[in-house]
Amino acid sequence: MKNTGYDTNAGPTPAFGPDQEFQKYISDKKFHLQQCEDCGIVIFMPRVICPNCASLTLKWRPACGLGTIYSQATLRPRSKAGEPPPPPHSVVLVDLDEGPRMMSHLPGVAPEDIHVGMRVQARIESNETNYFITFQAIKNKL
Ligand SMILES: [Zn+2]
Repeated sequence: MKNTGYDTNAGPTPAFGPDQEFQKYISDKKFHLQQCEDCGIVIFMPRVICPNCASLTLKWRPACGLGTIYSQATLRPRSKAGEPPPPPHSVVLVDLDEGPRMMSHLPGVAPEDIHVGMRVQARIESNETNYFITFQAIKNKL
C-alpha cells in the first residue's frame, strides 16, 4: 500500500512526560497512579498539573488495582465479506477504588456477563508495541 503520510493505525503511547512514566511503570508490571501532594486527589490520565488545584507536585503511588464497573458499551464489529462476524466485545468504564475513572476492557468476559457495580481487578497486558491495563472479574466467595 502506498504511504500517504498518514498512519491510521494506533501506535504506541507517546513516550514523553507523565505518559512515559506511566508506561515505564506498567512495563515493569507495576500499576501506579499519580496523587496530588497538595489536595490529595488521585489522578488518571497521567498529567503534569493537578486538575483539582493546579498544583505541580504530583507523585506516583501504587494502585490497589481494584475497581467497580461504572458503565459498559458493547461493540459489534462488522464482518468482512464471506466471513462470520467477529464476536462482540465490551468497552467498560471502571471507577478505581482510589477515585479516578478508567476506560478499559474485560478480555474473555462475554458482554452479557458484565454488569454495572461488578467488582474487578486490574491486570497488565502487552502487545508488540504497548503495555496496557485490562480488568478481570473478581469472583465472589461464598
Ligand atoms: Zn491538587
